[in-house]
Amino acid sequence: MIRFEQVGKKYHEKNALVSNNFHLQRGDMAFLTGHSGAGKSTLLKLIMLMERPTSGKVIVDREDLSQLSRKQIPAHRRKIGLVFQNHQLLMDYSVFDNVALPLKISGYNERDSGRRVRAALDKVGLLDKEKLSPQVLSSGEQQRIGIARAIVNKPKLILADEPTGNLDPALSAEIMHLFQQFNQVGVTVLIASHDLALIQRLQHPVIQLNQGRISGPLSVMGP
Ligand code: ADP
Repeated sequence: MIRFEQVGKKYHEKNALVSNNFHLQRGDMAFLTGHSGAGKSTLLKLIMLMERPTSGKVIVDREDLSQLSRKQIPAHRRKIGLVFQNHQLLMDYSVFDNVALPLKISGYNERDSGRRVRAALDKVGLLDKEKLSPQVLSSGEQQRIGIARAIVNKPKLILADEPTGNLDPALSAEIMHLFQQFNQVGVTVLIASHDLALIQRLQHPVIQLNQGRISGPLSVMGP
């Protein structure tokens, strides 16, 4: 699903990633870990086409991203559900409207959109909260809204950047369990995380970044 071939990224002549290879197969779930500044966010941005590599090739869903034209970028991004640490919710929108936002942007009609939003909210256990403002919900619930919004487009791939950064261990485990559920129905999942205790417990493959280099196996296999 994701293949990096000799991928390097420099910002202003400074290396953020150096000549990395890895392969995450379709249907895998893996963690991306490493110190602050190791290059985790940069690696995720290259997959999203929010940045372009300075060298090497990034292949996602069999497409060489360097070959995609500007017009093809939205379709590429629709394959990917993004989850952030600070969930970036709109507090003056309802839970429903936050989750519906990607569908609105994609031009779905109201009926299909409503059905999809409710299916997504059901999967994260928030169906009864659709009319509320995210503001009145707990941080764990807010993160679940972020996840519902990420999966409402039925992405093939979920990328998460420190999705449990603000949560206590019990809530973090709950959020990881949700990712595992999506993975079990075939979605490929890549999660950048600092939380080594949680990562060790879950026993998924780990891509370890150290100063812009992946250490460990080049090809990451399923558990
Ligand atoms: P991580 O997510 O592991 O903390 P990042 O990918 O954010 O690491 O950063 C990797 C390196 O690239 C760091 O040295 C960081 O300072 C640098 N960097 C990241 N984004 C930019 C940018 N937009 N401009 C310049 N340097 C950047």
